[in-house]
Amino acid sequence: MNIVGHLINGQINTDAARTQEVFNPATGLASKQVALASKQTVEEAIAAAEAAYPQWRNTPAIKRARIMFRFKELLEQNADRICELIGEEHGKISHDAAGELQRGIENVEYACGIPELLKGEYSKNVGPNIDSWSEFQPLGVVAGITPFNFPAMVPMWMFPLAIACGNTFVLKPSERDPSSTLFIAQLLHEAGLPEGVLNVVNGDKEAVDVLLTDERIKAVSFVGSTPIAEYIYTTANANGKRCQALGGAKNHAIVMPDADMDNAVNQLLGAAFGSSGERCMALSVAVAVGDAAADALVAKMRDAMQTLKVGAYSDSSNDFGPVITRQHQQKVVGYIDSAEADGASVVVDGRAPQVSGYEEGFFVGATLIDGVTPAMQSYQEEIFGPVLQVVRVESMDEAMQLINDHEYGNGTCIFTRDGEAARYFSDHIQVGMVGINIPLPVPVAYHSFGGWKRSLFGDLHAYGPDGVRFYTKRKTITQRWPSAGVREGAEFSMPTMK
Ligand code: NAD
Repeated sequence: MNIVGHLINGQINTDAARTQEVFNPATGLASKQVALASKQTVEEAIAAAEAAYPQWRNTPAIKRARIMFRFKELLEQNADRICELIGEEHGKISHDAAGELQRGIENVEYACGIPELLKGEYSKNVGPNIDSWSEFQPLGVVAGITPFNFPAMVPMWMFPLAIACGNTFVLKPSERDPSSTLFIAQLLHEAGLPEGVLNVVNGDKEAVDVLLTDERIKAVSFVGSTPIAEYIYTTANANGKRCQALGGAKNHAIVMPDADMDNAVNQLLGAAFGSSGERCMALSVAVAVGDAAADALVAKMRDAMQTLKVGAYSDSSNDFGPVITRQHQQKVVGYIDSAEADGASVVVDGRAPQVSGYEEGFFVGATLIDGVTPAMQSYQEEIFGPVLQVVRVESMDEAMQLINDHEYGNGTCIFTRDGEAARYFSDHIQVGMVGINIPLPVPVAYHSFGGWKRSLFGDLHAYGPDGVRFYTKRKTITQRWPSAGVREGAEFSMPTMK
């Protein structure tokens, strides 16, 4: 069976004492093995990154940018192959994989602007003959640890910008769908990246723990579930590393009584069920304000959901594919069971979808649950499947309180025609990314991405301007060139401009 290996110092290495099966979620069959890196393998990758750092750090930013320009072109030329690899191992439909890839490419485009982004700040004459400037220097070797649900996009939130800033990088992608990430890293080498600047190690906790504790790693970016994000953040901090750890979500959409209901239903369909609900920005709770809005929403959703097609990635007429593993399929079904047992009503039931030709696939059909209350486990926890739950409330204030009380604060949205309500909502909601009639308010590459509360541990959001800050440290230099023959006397009080 094919082994997906590591990329260390520009070379593919498939040696591994331990491996794990990689499944095609549509067929339910293992198609490959992935090598799981040992401590020694991760240390080799860190050593390669450390050796490459001095020269890469001193490579002019414009030359680093040129490699990013070539990388962008190669990503576009190889888009079909990348989407195929994503489909085979993640299961998302080719049009969805293309969208993910495009979002990743936009982060590369942002990194192409690195000479401008690193220009720094300059002040002339802060004192007599004294000038001062701040520059943004790279950190050294930095690491990224990424989740299964965006094997192309999320790694590209991290390494293009980190590398463009002058760092070298060790990436640990998800072991569940590693091939597209590895292929993308190879394309960056084809674009001219020197060996050792980007290294990829596949693996599990054993590999991650080396990245969190090895003193040569200066910063860690993580994206994944909240319990692991919290562990990563705490451990990285305890080991003196800068860390940003993005976690899970429970994204609510408020549906106001004045909303354009047909539009809201269309938007909710894509945002709740697209990518099988396996997006950290998926809308998983619709909070309907007033029973009339709730009844209309549920009736229209039920009708619209009859036309949804779940199936294999290769048929682009499908709306969404399987979930990632058999175990996850059972977990999602378990949440639907628990909501029903807790008294909610399953209006559209996706627990046993028929997908002809793919009977062993990890499919869950689109599911709509009405009458969900905040006390239910299915409301409190992240399901990460194609399940939309409807909570009925009496007022917008009650809807906002619900969102603000939830432990997660990644994304949210309001459907309304009332500008005043929308403005109040965006001002007071305790969530990091807000949509107004926009169901998936994923910030573009030149803003930054991050949730609030237990959806993000750390101060700086991912990519965009916060990404540049995360992957650099500020140094401020103050200089004086005294005029010839002028000698300054000793000054014992704090220097000021008084
Ligand atoms: P996960 O937390 O299981 O895994 C993420 C990464 O952590 C993987 O590389 C994995 O190998 C590693 N890992 C897993 N267990 C570990 C352990 N015990 N110790 C050290 N490392 C460990 O997440 P996942 O299932 O791959 O991805 C889905 C989750 O990611 C969801 O919760 C989703 O909301 C979240 N997510 C968040 C964002 C965001 O931007 N906030 C984006 C995408 C996904």
